[in-house]
Amino acid sequence: MKRLILHIDMDAFFASVEQRDFPHLRGKPVAVGGSPQGRGVVAAASYEARAFGVRSAMPAAQALRLCPQLHFVKHRFEVYRGVSHQIRDIFEAFTGLIEPLSLDEAFLDVTDHPDAGRPEFLAQSIRQAVADTTQLTCSAGIAPNKFLAKVASDMHKPNGQFYIPPEAAFSFIQTLPIRKFYGIGPSTEKRMKELGIQTGGDLQARSEAELVQLFGKTGHFYYQIAQGLDDRPVRTERIRKSVSVEETFFTDLRSVLEIRRELYQVCVELDRRLHKHQLSGRTVSLKIRYENFETHSHQCSLQAEPDNLQALWQTAKYLLEQSQYNRRPVRLLGLGVSNLKTPQDFEQELLPLE
Ligand SMILES: [Mg+2]
Repeated sequence: MKRLILHIDMDAFFASVEQRDFPHLRGKPVAVGGSPQGRGVVAAASYEARAFGVRSAMPAAQALRLCPQLHFVKHRFEVYRGVSHQIRDIFEAFTGLIEPLSLDEAFLDVTDHPDAGRPEFLAQSIRQAVADTTQLTCSAGIAPNKFLAKVASDMHKPNGQFYIPPEAAFSFIQTLPIRKFYGIGPSTEKRMKELGIQTGGDLQARSEAELVQLFGKTGHFYYQIAQGLDDRPVRTERIRKSVSVEETFFTDLRSVLEIRRELYQVCVELDRRLHKHQLSGRTVSLKIRYENFETHSHQCSLQAEPDNLQALWQTAKYLLEQSQYNRRPVRLLGLGVSNLKTPQDFEQELLPLE
């Protein structure tokens, strides 16, 4: 089936919102998150800051060394969320098929839009509407599938767009460096480089059987995307991959006793939700955010799904010990279960082999 997919991605989203709302930050290197004392972690960086090598998820101390004149600002998630809703409303005026990936990016299937025959004009119109409404810029990738659209939106960033027509897909991928492949993480990238796979062309030169031999099941996926094939639909309803509960505390938790008591409450709520949706999963993860917004998660995979509150609590306690939170004040606790199984999965397992 022939599709027209857009990937729209706001440019340096959090930082751009701050620069929009506080004019003295415009044209300056800005980091959202972290602190001028060099504590915490940078959540987002403006393009001016990126020019110094500042990146999101970088410790603030390191960012400060790279860029001593860096302006640190506190994040305002409520504002970002509000802008995210505005963008979503704009997208909805163009198509009902929207798959948000995060607050600031989404896939849009615009195959049935009256302007689908003029893809670049269509993307331009959406970007213009976003700019008019939010005074913020975004970039767009326009392509026959999700994989290519995602890669394309990065090509002319910021405030740009890039169109890959179906007939150009193969040659586009040929020269694409492996690190730009959406769906290939840093560890696979390293492995591929060791195998002499540097570009899409190198990947295209391998047979499907070879890639499966090297990378297991995912080899099929790598083969497909290297050929420019990706028939994954834009999913308006994302399939549930995890269930989690988290709680931010009004005052930071300071004692071990308090932390355990609150974690138990989170655990009870998670257990309730799992039962309600008849779900269970083998991977349990704990999220801890400290007073300086540093956030860590710890997870473990069990042999069998913890099927009752007691089992879940044992795992949660174990993860808390692993976290070595070391008496630091805790702002948020979260607990989640992934690797989910639904009742249907269990039924399928019980079916006899034919
Ligand atoms: Mg973005």
